[in-house]
Amino acid sequence: MDPLVIIVSGPGGVGKGTIVSALVQRDPRLWLSRSWTTRPQRDGEPDDAYRFTTRDDFEAHAERDGFLEWTEFLGNLYGTPLPEPPLGRDVVLEIELQGAKQVRERNPDALLIFVLPPSREEQQLRLTGRGDAPEKVLERLRKAEEEEPEGSELADYVVINDDLERTIAEMAAIVGRERLSRSRSR
Ligand code: 5GP
Repeated sequence: MDPLVIIVSGPGGVGKGTIVSALVQRDPRLWLSRSWTTRPQRDGEPDDAYRFTTRDDFEAHAERDGFLEWTEFLGNLYGTPLPEPPLGRDVVLEIELQGAKQVRERNPDALLIFVLPPSREEQQLRLTGRGDAPEKVLERLRKAEEEEPEGSELADYVVINDDLERTIAEMAAIVGRERLSRSRSR
């Protein structure tokens, strides 16, 4: 059986990272892909949050067709290496919208969940809270305005992260439902 590919997308500061780690921790069938990025590591960010790399190495890997998708986002490159999940595991990608669109083109069966912040104020607080500089926060808020209508339109499910536990439960339920309906349609 092909693995289910679950794309979790949504604007910066919406809590995607926290949601996805909780989902993966609770559901041993999920396998989280680790992206490459040329963005410098943030203070306090775990070493394994990304494979932090140089632009040269990133571009060389892209030339070798080593990425399922990649894009430039606010001046840095981000990419998903071709996923190699252990047998029987479903793949989770936490990526922005341009990448989500590329994955969908290559794999139309991929499930796209788009996460929205409860409000712009809440999103701003989260972005500021993780230590982003004020101009970066503004940039990401502007980007969110741009991405949200398209993301919501394209997504199979739109989830508002108003309460972390509720959101995680809703997403776990979506994954369960999709597994069931896909196993039935085989
Ligand atoms: P951040 O710099 O805040 O870690 O990530 C910026 C944006 O890039 C977030 O929306 C995040 O989901 C997205 N992102 C992370 N990894 C990838 C990736 O491999 N591909 C794409 N397209 N976006 C990614």
